[in-house]
Amino acid sequence: MTSTTPLDADRTESTATSETTGTTGTARRTVVVVGHGMVGHRFVEALRSRDREGTWRVVVLSEEADAAYDRVGLSSYVGGWDRSALALAGSSYPGDDHVELRLGTRAEVVDRVARTVTTTDGSTVGYDALVVATGSYPFVPPVPGHDSPGCFVYRTLDDLDGIRGAADAARARAAAEGREANGLVVGGGLLGLEAANALRLLGLTPHVVEFAPRLMPLQVDAGGGAVLERLMGGLGVQVHTGAGTASIARQADERLAVELTDGTSLLTDLVVFSAGVRPADAVGRAAGLECGERGGIVTDAACRTSDEAVFAIGEVAAVEGRCYGLVAPGYTMAEVVADRLLGGGATFPGADLSTKLKLLGVDVASFGDAMATTPGALEIVHTDAVRGTYAKVVVSDDARTLLGGILVGDASAYTTLKAYVGREVPGDPGALVSPAGAELGTDGLPDDAVVCSCNNVTKGSICSAIADGAGDLAALKGCTNAGTTCGGCLPTVKKLLVDSGVELSTALCEHFVQSRAQLFEIVRATGIRTFSGLLARYGTGAGCEVCKPTVASILASTGSDHVLDGEQAALQDSNDHFLANIQRNGTYSVVPRMPGGEVTADQLIVIGEVARDFDLYVKVTGGQRIDLFGARVEQLPAIWQRLVDVGMESGQAYGKSLRTVKSCVGSTWCRFGVQDSVGMAVDLEHRYRGLRSPHKIKFGVSGCARECAEARGKDVGVIATDKGWNLYVCGNGGQTPKHAVLLASDLDDETLVRYIDRFLAFYVRTADRLQRTAPWLESLEGGLEHLRAVVCDDALGIADDLEAVMARHVEGYRDEWKAVLDDPVKLQRFVSFVNAPDEPNPTVAFDDAGPRKVPVLLGLPIVGRR
Ligand SMILES: Cc1cc2nc3c(=O)[nH]c(=O)nc-3n(C[C@H](O)[C@H](O)[C@H](O)COP(=O)(O)OP(=O)(O)OC[C@H]3O[C@@H](n4cnc5c(N)ncnc54)[C@H](O)[C@@H]3O)c2cc1C
Ligand code: SF4
Repeated sequence: MTSTTPLDADRTESTATSETTGTTGTARRTVVVVGHGMVGHRFVEALRSRDREGTWRVVVLSEEADAAYDRVGLSSYVGGWDRSALALAGSSYPGDDHVELRLGTRAEVVDRVARTVTTTDGSTVGYDALVVATGSYPFVPPVPGHDSPGCFVYRTLDDLDGIRGAADAARARAAAEGREANGLVVGGGLLGLEAANALRLLGLTPHVVEFAPRLMPLQVDAGGGAVLERLMGGLGVQVHTGAGTASIARQADERLAVELTDGTSLLTDLVVFSAGVRPADAVGRAAGLECGERGGIVTDAACRTSDEAVFAIGEVAAVEGRCYGLVAPGYTMAEVVADRLLGGGATFPGADLSTKLKLLGVDVASFGDAMATTPGALEIVHTDAVRGTYAKVVVSDDARTLLGGILVGDASAYTTLKAYVGREVPGDPGALVSPAGAELGTDGLPDDAVVCSCNNVTKGSICSAIADGAGDLAALKGCTNAGTTCGGCLPTVKKLLVDSGVELSTALCEHFVQSRAQLFEIVRATGIRTFSGLLARYGTGAGCEVCKPTVASILASTGSDHVLDGEQAALQDSNDHFLANIQRNGTYSVVPRMPGGEVTADQLIVIGEVARDFDLYVKVTGGQRIDLFGARVEQLPAIWQRLVDVGMESGQAYGKSLRTVKSCVGSTWCRFGVQDSVGMAVDLEHRYRGLRSPHKIKFGVSGCARECAEARGKDVGVIATDKGWNLYVCGNGGQTPKHAVLLASDLDDETLVRYIDRFLAFYVRTADRLQRTAPWLESLEGGLEHLRAVVCDDALGIADDLEAVMARHVEGYRDEWKAVLDDPVKLQRFVSFVNAPDEPNPTVAFDDAGPRKVPVLLGLPIVGRR
């Protein structure tokens, strides 16, 4: 590397930018930072915190109009649309007169001889040192039509605003045309999947086109890719792997026809390119700085470019020829340059390229030598097709040292495993991926193990911060920076806090410091009936996908407003939004309520007729109901009307509410039965239908101890005895099945119902978000004994209150689906489809050829195949 203009004290004395500070009398030099992204900001912070004498004045030129924001968390902008929520702490340098931030100002020309930067507004700034931190720009493959209206990239807040506008317009157009709105993402890497999730949240059906044979090809192997593809399918993302984009053509109806290299044509409302990034090295290149073959400003290990007065950091830098597309290496580079400007000798030590996907509901992580490229490396894999998980660890040839790994479906072990990379694993490494095997605790982790790789924070630093009094997550984040960037390490950070005896915050999310139970009490006490009202008085920001549905559920549990009334409608998740279960191909299933599994012949005939007339697939469920699959959204009101006409309603088979009360035939028909289990089941289902709760609730009622209704696998299980009823609570099926436990024996009908009222009201009031009854019981201080004391002995003196809550619920209940049919405003949600021509929605297809009808995961019409 050739040095053209050395940076040294003598040289800086003579520049026009150097000045003498009044207080110290020392020369103050100017460092110009081009680019105010995450790394540019980190550099300013690092320099300012170390330069106590104030020897450097900092001028930051930022092309974007916003001061540095959390680009890693860009996707969380969707929904809240609150720019301030993503602002990085202190990024406008309040009260620091050593820093001048010029927003909306692009650096155009660097004159390395004069040491000046000329900006878009025509001004010129002199520098003693220049730090180029211009990041990357998204690569858009030069396919014909790539610049059509409706094509976007995914990098900045402005990009997301553009996508939002196009998505809103697409949804309106699609609704008017009686079809679904679609979006297509070019690129199935980490960012492509984040973009697809954003499109999903914007109400579009996302498609992802990936050239490689699997998603996230750089991070996961074939096995992990297959599991990931299935999980993405479950989220409604349609995946097209092994195909590139050949051309894009805008149609007369404003949609885009996208031709893939395998001959497939797809019609989409918008396209988001996420096909990789390229270093934004234009300014440096034009100034004659040495650049890498594949772009990036080449630097040495001190991040110094071919001009000694110029440094490059972050994604634009090719440190010793290598570019890094992650924030953590950029932060390290920022620290290196700050140190160098103050006379230090720091060098860039290389970087950890571990990654973790931040998608809602899909865990993917890869770390260390994930692809097992180390000679002799051994791979240990565990795949669980039922749970949808794939876990692989890579170990050294003697099976002792952990080299890397891949986790798909469940990445809870990511941070701890990652911290063990390069170290000897305690015990059998196979146990690390086996569900029955050992979990690596934080105990065995050495102090120098890096827990937060974004900010290079070790276990030792976290533990000493805790020892020094950082008593909660916020304090720990504040003093160590751990967990403040991608957040992937937070589970381990929390574990370290808990292991040290700290009780963790129960805040619902970043918008509410209260727990779900506390918010419940606030709503009850204040009578606040809107999310915005609650947020304004007790929360901050705009809300998120955690607090919105939780508050919607609390409002529904505490009042009898309709779930689609006013503002509430927008808070519901997609099932509650359409009062039906959304299925894999975007259609819905309707499950008519049949309390206790009981149904009349006329009702059964209507169910059959509805299935025939709407061409629905019929399946009897495990909860004794009939599930009708494949209804398009515009068909829902018509189906509900037919059910209402024979005295039936749809059911909350989708809701965080009572799903079913299963029953056996009981004493009326069965020769073993000792009580009328059907009658009791029907009464219970009528009583608690529509009750919104922290999670779904299921009941079972058996007519004798033979337990044909499998009541002990339910949240509330009622089993007849010679003397009355035994009440069991807190059982469930699912991933972690639990038998219900006996709460009270030989109850008469009235006491049974009273106890169930109290039990459910107590659960709804005190459980955490998404906490089923079994884990709730485990978390209750005093466990079953306490619960029994509250429910049966009224130990807290709240029994009357709990019963009153339930009485209000029973009184306020009304058929939610009929309420939609009776309300033209609510019907509008479905009306565009009702008015649409009868021709089938082109984005929905079924395959009837086999023994059973199945949805075809098409979503976008295939309009041609060469
Ligand atoms: C959606 C998304 C998710 C991500 N997730 C992760 C993740 O989970 N983990 C991770 O490690 N990384 C992630 N990244 C990458 C991470 O955001 C980047 O590594 C990091 O932001 C790079 O910081 P930077 O400062 O080098 O560049 P940038 O943040 O791109 O900042 C550069 C700034 O310079 C400005 N600029 C460019 N040219 C000029 C000029 N001539 N004059 C003035 N200003 C200029 C740009 O407009 C930009 O504002 C993600 C990125 C995106 C987009
Ligand atoms: S649980 Fe008892 S009453 Fe019910 S069906 Fe079985 S044997 Fe008959």
